[in-house]
Amino acid sequence: MKGFYENEVRCQVCKKEYKITKLLSRKAVVKKRDSDFCPHYKDLNPIFYSVNVCPHCGFTSFNSDEEKLNSQEIKKYKEKMSSKWKYQELNGIRGIDDAIKIYKLLLLTYNVIDKKKSSIATACLRLAWLYRYKNDKENEMKYLKNMIKNNEIAFSTEKLSVNYKNELEIMFIVGETYRKLGEFKEAVKWFTKVNAHEDINKHRIIKIRNKDQWSLAMEEYRNGDKNE
Ligand SMILES: [Zn+2]
Repeated sequence: MKGFYENEVRCQVCKKEYKITKLLSRKAVVKKRDSDFCPHYKDLNPIFYSVNVCPHCGFTSFNSDEEKLNSQEIKKYKEKMSSKWKYQELNGIRGIDDAIKIYKLLLLTYNVIDKKKSSIATACLRLAWLYRYKNDKENEMKYLKNMIKNNEIAFSTEKLSVNYKNELEIMFIVGETYRKLGEFKEAVKWFTKVNAHEDINKHRIIKIRNKDQWSLAMEEYRNGDKNE
């Protein structure tokens, strides 16, 4: 199909090869971004294609995830999941509902292998955005809250400069999500952290946006925090 190409990958769990569909990068044209950087695409959305599902055993992962699974993780996956999986091809052209299904499989896989919280948080954020595309507020909020919960743990227990190439952006997104959830005090706390980060001057767009949303959160806070 026009705009796509096929690739072959090898599953880390069952070691079998399978085909995946990828979107040509020039076909992914961003029309606008929301305040939390959620991209809206003109036509085709690469987020739909950034996750691979092994048709043989169901093992699901971000295709950018180069981290090798260790033997414990493979064992956990095989014990809990492989036997329940029935052969299924899910790597073709995807619509929004297919994408939601795949990101849920990703979360399931991550939970089964006890993947680090920063990766779970990233999957939750993508899933929240997919529900946003569908105007499903309830599920969007559910996964945004999940994203916050996992990032709060990640930021206090993981070495994020290694796991997150975009640490500042994630910190900003946590702040902005708290603001959207009406938790202004928490939002201000995270915006303050972003502003004090040693790399802030290297990221002009985040610096400016952080300042704007920080002022907005302060104003909203003065007008009444719903949790106070
Ligand atoms: Zn497999």
